[in-house]
Amino acid sequence: MERVGLILVLEAGLAPPLRNRIRDRLQQLGAEVRVLDGGVHTCLEVTGADLSIRTVHPANWPGVVKVVPLTEPYPHAARASNAPDGRAIPVEVGGVPVGGDELAIVAGPCAIEEEERALALARELRDAGCAFFRGGAFKPRTSPYAFQGLEEEGLRILGRIREETGLRIVTEVMDASQLSAVVEVADLLQVGSRNMQNFSLLKELGALDTPVLLKRGYAATPEEFLLAAEYILSGGNHQVILCERGIRSAAGADQVVLDLGIVPELRRRTHLPVLVDPSHGSAAAHRVPALARASAAVGADGLLIEVHDDPTRALSDGPQALTLEAFRQTLREVQSIHRALPPAGREAPREVEEGVIPGILAAPGKD
Ligand code: PEP
Ligand code: MN
Repeated sequence: MERVGLILVLEAGLAPPLRNRIRDRLQQLGAEVRVLDGGVHTCLEVTGADLSIRTVHPANWPGVVKVVPLTEPYPHAARASNAPDGRAIPVEVGGVPVGGDELAIVAGPCAIEEEERALALARELRDAGCAFFRGGAFKPRTSPYAFQGLEEEGLRILGRIREETGLRIVTEVMDASQLSAVVEVADLLQVGSRNMQNFSLLKELGALDTPVLLKRGYAATPEEFLLAAEYILSGGNHQVILCERGIRSAAGADQVVLDLGIVPELRRRTHLPVLVDPSHGSAAAHRVPALARASAAVGADGLLIEVHDDPTRALSDGPQALTLEAFRQTLREVQSIHRALPPAGREAPREVEEGVIPGILAAPGKD
């Protein structure tokens, strides 16, 4: 028998014709309804179309006192019963699991700017231990006068980087019309913050079997974030990785605040792996290492960090890009923090070897 999804509590003493009108409306919306005659309140038990019924707000219907949802509004994204305690179910990206024991590190420039320099940077990042290279070919820029990315040429360069370094490629798709070209080189398709609620794009991604990195809209609640993931998951693509990238705040420096509290919140609600992007989440390179360490400490499954061979020359997001040297140091620190945390959930404190955490901060360069 189908699980009950919703209980409607009706007004005490509601006349049967009014009660029947509510029941009929629910049935017209495709639900199966059972009337539970309680003492004071009659309740309606709703199965079947309960998820769509929630979206027409029955709590506001005349005669309804209260609606009690018995399941999450995002059944595919909701923490699966077979998910390991407090942990993600890993998503494989080009054979590399994201959300498993290892911290997934996605690093690279904001945008691909020039072939040989991008390739040289990718080699350095691979040698530093990264499995994933990021770089935008299609860039969503606030100003139409800003560098928009190398587009198809950028994809070609990413394809070469993948070929010559073995790194898995993470790159953004802004629009469904770009999808067939981007999917040729991307191991992980990035949906940017501004597109988190581009529902037609999300539906297209749901029909693919390429993993998707869904960045949080910078004004999105956790529920809106998970409902956006639900668009992809309900289409049949179960390989979704979430990424916190900072939310807007009038009070925050540069008006962005990295919302690290969402990591344990998402962990509780979903089995999807959660990455954190301290680069867009701080907008300033001097804040990135500290926020990267905090992201590892809060239990992120991985980090997305912008790195540039010469941040002063970057065509986009230069102020937040780390130099290779700063990145290598940050990587050592976050790896040490990650290893010091308990494998299950990375939430509860566990005994760590005396001095491990102070040591990594006090001894730069030491692994
Ligand atoms: C990016 O990753 O380069 C980017 C544009 O991110 P966001 O969509 O989070 O702003
Ligand atoms: Mn960027």
